Amino acid sequence: MIAPGAWLGLLGGGQLGRMFTMAAQSMGYKVVVLDPSSHGPAASVADDHIAADYLDTAALEALARRCAAATTEFENVPAGALRFLAGHCVVSPSADSVAVAQDRIAEKAFLVAAGIDVAPYRALCREQDIDQVPASLLPGVLKRSRLGYDGKGQVRVRTLQEVRDAFVKFGGQPCVLEQLLPLELELSVMVARGFDGSVVSWPVAENQHAQGILDVSIVPARIPSALAERARSAAVAVASRLDYHGVLCLELFVLRDGRLLANEIAPRPHNSGHYTIDACVTSQFEQQARVLCGLPLGSTELHCPAVMVNLLGQLWASGEPRWEHVLRHRSAKLHLYGKAEARPGRKMGHFTLLAASTEAALAVALQVKSLLLSEAQAGRLEARVHPGKQARGRHSPR
Ligand code: ADP
Ligand code: MG
Repeated sequence: MIAPGAWLGLLGGGQLGRMFTMAAQSMGYKVVVLDPSSHGPAASVADDHIAADYLDTAALEALARRCAAATTEFENVPAGALRFLAGHCVVSPSADSVAVAQDRIAEKAFLVAAGIDVAPYRALCREQDIDQVPASLLPGVLKRSRLGYDGKGQVRVRTLQEVRDAFVKFGGQPCVLEQLLPLELELSVMVARGFDGSVVSWPVAENQHAQGILDVSIVPARIPSALAERARSAAVAVASRLDYHGVLCLELFVLRDGRLLANEIAPRPHNSGHYTIDACVTSQFEQQARVLCGLPLGSTELHCPAVMVNLLGQLWASGEPRWEHVLRHRSAKLHLYGKAEARPGRKMGHFTLLAASTEAALAVALQVKSLLLSEAQAGRLEARVHPGKQARGRHSPR
């Protein structure tokens, strides 16, 4: 067991890293962040920051010298960096399990081998592979096998010609073509698995996306308990079969005909698990620290229903949003990531609304969300009509 007071290393410097850092620090650990950017959400709260490329050997050595253990918050940290660190200190998750989730082709093959249903798909490694695509996969979604996130690196396609054009546009890199499915619901399950093989899962979240980006998570998902159990079992099976150590998320689709399919694995805490900070006994970030340090896993019990709403950059269209709209609700919890620049689609923060029922939490959360959005849009309109005049006297965008 790595006791509080020790240094922990973190690869990646975004908001997931910031929330991990804060959770680890509150337990008494010190955190050093390795991240190429000069400042960022995690580095600004960490005890130390090494600004270097993830594959910079000298930087990795410096991190390993300092730290008893290291983890990652960023799915696309090169598996090689984790492999290198594993030669020097405790690492979770392992390079091999991260490598599976970093590559959609490997990920799909893994899920199928694990007996978990996925959308009908074809791996397209070369342009010629498109000739073999069965018509039943169209209309479909072409996804780059590597480096996609938040709906980036994927496009809907209706014809083989569109598949070809999109494949070329993606640089001829390996892709998967999936059938476009009639989704009834999207779900996700967070799981944590320790070095001793102990495994826990959190309640299932029901996720709503807008423009390919997570918008709202509702917990517990409004689904029959048998379906929730199947989703949790699938996520536990993924973690066990990967011999995974750490926190991971399994994203799932529920189809209109009731079928449950796995979509993708995130080998790290996940946006849809942010509700665990305020609504569960143990947050996904504390659990990440617990696994890393060989501590017993904490309870994943839900205190009460919760709805998480993402705060994206467009809410800053007319300046800093008026946070009193969130904070005047006594069971609303505001989290801002300290990002300097608000761009549309950029994840700037989130809030979680706690209530006695999901319906009550959802009603208030959506009301707060639409208020923030309408003020941002009204302010932008005002700025266009009266250029130079500040909307309601608030600050200009940071
Ligand atoms: P990302 O890495 O960007 O999260 P996903 O594969 O999870 O990529 O896709 C993003 C979103 O696009 C999903 O959450 C879902 O809303 C939609 N989507 C993805 N694949 C399909 C599909 N085969 N059929 C219908 N919708 C899909
Ligand atoms: Mg996804």
